[in-house]
Amino acid sequence: MERVVGKARLTLVQGDITRQKVDVIVNAANPGLMGGGGVDGAIHAAGGPAILEECKAIVARQGSLPAGQAVLTTGGRLPARYIIHTVGPVWRGGDQGEPETLASAYRESLRLAVSRGLKTVAFSSISTGVYGYPVELAARVCLQEAARFLREEGGVEEVRMVLFSSGTMRAFQQALEELMPSPQRWEAPTFVWHVVSLTIVSPTGEARGDEAPRKSVRGRAGRRIDRGRCAILRNGT
Ligand code: ADP
Repeated sequence: MERVVGKARLTLVQGDITRQKVDVIVNAANPGLMGGGGVDGAIHAAGGPAILEECKAIVARQGSLPAGQAVLTTGGRLPARYIIHTVGPVWRGGDQGEPETLASAYRESLRLAVSRGLKTVAFSSISTGVYGYPVELAARVCLQEAARFLREEGGVEEVRMVLFSSGTMRAFQQALEELMPSPQRWEAPTFVWHVVSLTIVSPTGEARGDEAPRKSVRGRAGRRIDRGRCAILRNGT
């Protein structure tokens, strides 16, 4: 599923973030940046020990990472060139600033990507695993913030949400459809009108290849069709 927002693509794919060939993937990390379970564990396992070394150096330099903030390391052995580590909020019922912190995690990650010239960004679904954020709510916050960023700030070519389970994928699809409905399909009356308008005689007579506009033409039964009026013509008329 895909939408164009500003000059960028916003896409949803079901899959494993460690296999994405993008400039940067975004990890749902914890403040200590020490790896762990979930997507964090999968990224460290697939990317190798160099990532953890870089994470330790960051924590030694600036302390643990507050929720809503983001830092960058290389991608180690991953197909992605870089990893952005961001910390989402732990769900505590929704009235403890969780939506703002979650939006901040996406926003700060995108700003960091842009500041490094990274154009294709693949996100995991931040906070919707061990941190317990209800995925239907998280999907709306995520897509709203990503769309706002692409419209108002920009600087990336693709934001790809990589959703691990079919349930998470469904929740994001539904949220995207609500936020940016698919372009309307042609409905029957519209379709019939388009077919009809392709076969009507044009008011200026051009449909019959006339050199000069004519005042009227004659239908099959000799019925006059005045200029400015329309009629369906059959073959040979
Ligand atoms: P958090 O602690 O922020 O909730 P988790 O790692 O527990 O982070 O879960 C975040 C999301 O990442 C969940 O939707 C989970 O299903 C998903 N996830 C787990 N492994 C992967 C993976 N290899 N690729 C993409 N997403 C994954």
